[in-house]
Amino acid sequence: MTSYFASHALIDGNVQRDVRLKAVDGHWAEITASVTKTADDIELPGIALPGMLNAHSHAFHRALRGRTHGDGGTFWTWRTRMYEAASRLDPDRYFALARATYAEMVAAGYTSVAEFHYVHHAPGGSSYDDPNAMGKALIAAAREAGIALTLLDVCYLHGGLDATGYTELDPLQQRFSDGDMDSFLARHDRLVSETGGEATIGLAAHSVRALTPDELRRLATAAGGGILHVHASEQLAEVEMCQAVHGMSPIALLAETGMLHANASVVHGTHLSETDIRLLAEAGATVAFCPTTERDLADGIGPARALIDAGAHLAIGSDQHAIIDPFAELQALEGHERLTSHNRGNFPPGQLLQIATNPVPVGYEHAGLCVGAPADVVAIDAHSTRTAGSEPTGIVMTASAADVTDVVVAGERIVAADQHRVRDVGAALSAAMEEIWPAH
Ligand SMILES: [Zn+2]
Repeated sequence: MTSYFASHALIDGNVQRDVRLKAVDGHWAEITASVTKTADDIELPGIALPGMLNAHSHAFHRALRGRTHGDGGTFWTWRTRMYEAASRLDPDRYFALARATYAEMVAAGYTSVAEFHYVHHAPGGSSYDDPNAMGKALIAAAREAGIALTLLDVCYLHGGLDATGYTELDPLQQRFSDGDMDSFLARHDRLVSETGGEATIGLAAHSVRALTPDELRRLATAAGGGILHVHASEQLAEVEMCQAVHGMSPIALLAETGMLHANASVVHGTHLSETDIRLLAEAGATVAFCPTTERDLADGIGPARALIDAGAHLAIGSDQHAIIDPFAELQALEGHERLTSHNRGNFPPGQLLQIATNPVPVGYEHAGLCVGAPADVVAIDAHSTRTAGSEPTGIVMTASAADVTDVVVAGERIVAADQHRVRDVGAALSAAMEEIWPAH
């Protein structure tokens, strides 16, 4: 049992004073307000917030930060650069980059991450001796960085969708593919049996561009109503092509193939029709918005408020890691909605924290500062240049990742007084980056 004490904690959107949080076996066993601190309590300074859950990550995209802004272009030219980074990965480099990226995430206030993992094989598509060497590198990286990992094993079988139908994988995409659905499921079963106790393992379809309707159906059956993620409707080109080839939108195709349900997370959902919104709501699905990525890649602004109003659920993800900062994602979610609606206060701070602790994408039953949830908590400096003067409830709209001083994950203190247990996270990131982009 470990006991933490916070003079201020934001619980269900309200400020509670003098709160003791007791962690037993990685979960909150007792949360009591208006108590007196004892010598056994570990003090969390500032304001305690729930640990935030990152619903969508590609750890290796961190290698692209600050390297894609010079030449203009579109999402699709950015993707060429991303494939180049993917082509430089091997299990050791992947481990080093993911370990540093996950440490950056924890230091920013994320306590759990859903990693959308598709770089399965060696360049060219041949398998490593252990066909899950890359996935296991991510599991080891998360363990060292102190973040709870939900590893999404992504099925990726086709290069794309054009007017002629599904296209062949190009050479850079071949390492993402297992060749066919049987081989994917066989590798996935092995991953589950060999690593199931070390990380939560889920299933994902890369997109409606990478799997045919029959393959989507088989994947949904394999998931059996459990954790299932898919990218959808991020780019208008995808929506238009899906409409042209299948006569329906990507969301309608996902609904038709059994991919939408209460444990399903649709990533992005930027370009949605009213029918799409209704289908997502009827399924009780979660839509994982990645606002700083969607802004960086010029995707567009998704209908966040309309989804919530219809009955769907939202979550946030840092996706390509142009920024790793849950506060920036939440501020962008509200800010983007203000720009499109011309209204302020679309998501009150308590609701933003609820969105950041949606347990579905990572496969938790509960999350947040409540008994039974994983014992995750983040302490924010209430007197920084950004936060000084904010009301405690308003701090969600003023804080940044730089204001996180302490982070507890599953009852264990991973960041203490601004110091992550990895020590110099910036140096770890730089060293990992030098392996991916060696100086010439
Ligand atoms: Zn993504």
